Amino acid sequence: MRVAVLSDIHGNLPALQAVLDALRPFDALWQLGDIVGYGPEPDAVVSALREAGAGGVRGNHDAAALGLIEADAFNDDAREAVEWTADVLAEPAREWLANLPERDTQGDFTLVHGSPRDPTWEYVYSMPVARANFPAFSTRHCLVGHTHVPLVFRLDDGRIETLQPSDGSSLQLDDRRTIINPGSVGQPRDGDPRACAMVIDTEEGSIAWHRIDYEIATTQARMRDARLPERLIDRLRHGL
Ligand code: ZN
Repeated sequence: MRVAVLSDIHGNLPALQAVLDALRPFDALWQLGDIVGYGPEPDAVVSALREAGAGGVRGNHDAAALGLIEADAFNDDAREAVEWTADVLAEPAREWLANLPERDTQGDFTLVHGSPRDPTWEYVYSMPVARANFPAFSTRHCLVGHTHVPLVFRLDDGRIETLQPSDGSSLQLDDRRTIINPGSVGQPRDGDPRACAMVIDTEEGSIAWHRIDYEIATTQARMRDARLPERLIDRLRHGL
């Protein structure tokens, strides 16, 4: 089975469409949360995911847009975007988002947004944090988003190895347990502004990362029309 894994789409429809076009055909689509927030087209992004048959989990921005957690926990720009999203989000999209779980299991993979021990808030960005999270899931592998940076932590005989995938990187899975981040579709933060996503071939046990160009200026223009914070508009150009 060929599975497209997408995270942190953040209401960025041009980025999502470019990624879906580039990764098709796939047999399943797993997304790791933060479908909305920051970006200007939350409803259209939810519709595109529904049409593509996406499963997966919800993130902190999704929960905040639904009023399930306090927007006060966000920084000023993120809060402004969350409040804008909560205002414009239509009922069908709200319902679909509200039905997403915090944690999901698909075969050998646990799916969460942040970390397995704290799916809403924790960032798995360092070896100590990764180490503390391996006991918090029972499948061999765990897929996480939230940091917007593609990254792999692999447990090898008690040691933790870190891999930083770039465009075209691949990983062969084996008995070693891993925590894997596909990177962000709609707001990359690793210095490469192209959309980022990965594909798992479940028969081969292999994963490939892809960087995909999209019309950043189109997303930025739509953000400006929506009067979203300038800093959020500008950062898309830098991928930071
Ligand atoms: Zn995010």
